[in-house]
Amino acid sequence: MSDNSKTRSHSHFYVDNSGIRYEVVERPWFGPRKRGKKILLASALYGHECSPDNFFRYLERNYASAMRYIEWVRFHKCTYLEGHERTWEQRFAICNTKADFKTRSILHEEGQVIANATGWYPLVSGRRAAPRRALNPPWLNASESLSPIIGSCQFGDLEALSNVDRELGGCSFLLEFTKGAMLLDVGFQYRIPESASVPAFGVVTHTHHDHCGGLKIATDNKLPIVVSESVARQLYFTGRVNRNTASLLQLRLPASIISGDGTRFTFMPHAHTPGATMVMVTTVSKQQLLYTSDYCLRNSYYQQAPADILGIFSDSAVGKWLLLDGAFLGHEPETKSDINLDILKRDLKREHDCGHDVIVVSESADYLYCIIMWLFQTFYTGDKSQLDRHLLVEPSIIRLLETTFEPFILRQHDRYDPFMKAILGKGMSNYLESVRLYPFTHELDRSGPPGPYDIICTVPHLPRNLKMAKGDILVLIVGRLLGSTEDNLRTLLKEKRSLWLHGPDFTFHSSAADVANIVDTAAKEGIKPIIFHNFPKRVHKALDTHGISGQSYECLYSKRIRIK
Ligand SMILES: [Zn+2]
Ligand SMILES: [Zn+2]
Repeated sequence: MSDNSKTRSHSHFYVDNSGIRYEVVERPWFGPRKRGKKILLASALYGHECSPDNFFRYLERNYASAMRYIEWVRFHKCTYLEGHERTWEQRFAICNTKADFKTRSILHEEGQVIANATGWYPLVSGRRAAPRRALNPPWLNASESLSPIIGSCQFGDLEALSNVDRELGGCSFLLEFTKGAMLLDVGFQYRIPESASVPAFGVVTHTHHDHCGGLKIATDNKLPIVVSESVARQLYFTGRVNRNTASLLQLRLPASIISGDGTRFTFMPHAHTPGATMVMVTTVSKQQLLYTSDYCLRNSYYQQAPADILGIFSDSAVGKWLLLDGAFLGHEPETKSDINLDILKRDLKREHDCGHDVIVVSESADYLYCIIMWLFQTFYTGDKSQLDRHLLVEPSIIRLLETTFEPFILRQHDRYDPFMKAILGKGMSNYLESVRLYPFTHELDRSGPPGPYDIICTVPHLPRNLKMAKGDILVLIVGRLLGSTEDNLRTLLKEKRSLWLHGPDFTFHSSAADVANIVDTAAKEGIKPIIFHNFPKRVHKALDTHGISGQSYECLYSKRIRIK
């Protein structure tokens, strides 16, 4: 008898004659198994020897068209221990398929027939991110070229910090050292004053325009720019930089690079947007400066304490600076909607129960990214076989999901950013592997999955999806909109049921109270906060009302701040 918990044998990968990669593992499949067990126990071949080859040949003879949509198969072959001493022979073929509805339906509906003929029960899973990218892809090696660049540089001690894009109000911070300089983000526009030190390299922390607008000019000027692999792929998709841009250097976070004199630059995953990055600089004399980039301490998805950020500093550091996002100080967006995620859950559940189509629309891909992950955890994982609907997602948003999820799964679900941690929790569920996820395409009406749908799209795709959706549709509008977009949407949706979800549930900057809390805690721990993304007057006024003295922080606006 085998014990479910300890049978973990070595895996071997093979490639079948049909070209499909597979492995055979002698350990249990803990996913949904009720239907498979029932079918196997009743099948003619139960208890007989069966081989993967049988399985593939049978599919080839009977479902040839489906074969090309199967990416990968894992055969689970073991004695499954169920409860007390009750065992059954598990022979599950977990078939990872591309997003082809027909293939998934055939494998599911023909489960009994296939098990009878081959001894294996086919269990359909969505396409997998990990096996395809398990090795470091060649383009990631490009980041190796970063080490020689920084590796030959001297930096010395921290000296000064200034915003070189202050005229346009963007974020581009020149961090000067006694022997060199680096650039934190490239602002709306890249321009280094002639009087200033030339940066050895720069980092672009995320894809918002106030941080990456100057990217093209910066890379045209051959400034090496570090980005996370997720941010890089988003920049390519949106056409902000060319794929062949030699000076754009990708890192799989978290990662550290050490300069010639031992200055350490650490890049960490962060929750502001998909793929966002934080940067910690540690000099040889143990000074530390942490650039949070745009940052939100808490929203409806997650809640962090100041210690989660301040704990990144090392105890032995001498001189600690925290470059902190103060965008919402005296400037918090007004709440136009009082819908929170609990109410949303209740409302969507009602739509699901009635079998209505739901369209979620936003101007920002970031908001859609958040809501898709939330939808998965709330409705599509767990007992998802009970949910009789499909998710149709704009292809570019699926790519966005991939860019963040692949690095995440390749970190073995470790070192999540707070958003990922809150949404995915301890579970190993992979929202890209859902069999209910489909990109929307032109052929959808003919060969795609049947409704009802949860449709996720950006504003330009809304009219088309309104035509496709059927019956009494609910449209959920997420996040802030441009005034003109909002007017257009209100006209377009006049006859429809709609819910407007402006926030604060989907905000990506810290509230004034949270900034005050971080500043206060930092000051007590000997960390000097430097607040950016706002006018000094407004910062002082807002923090004043929270009882924070102007002595405990600095504002990075027009002046060059000395760091000593
Ligand atoms: Zn931002
Ligand atoms: Zn920003």
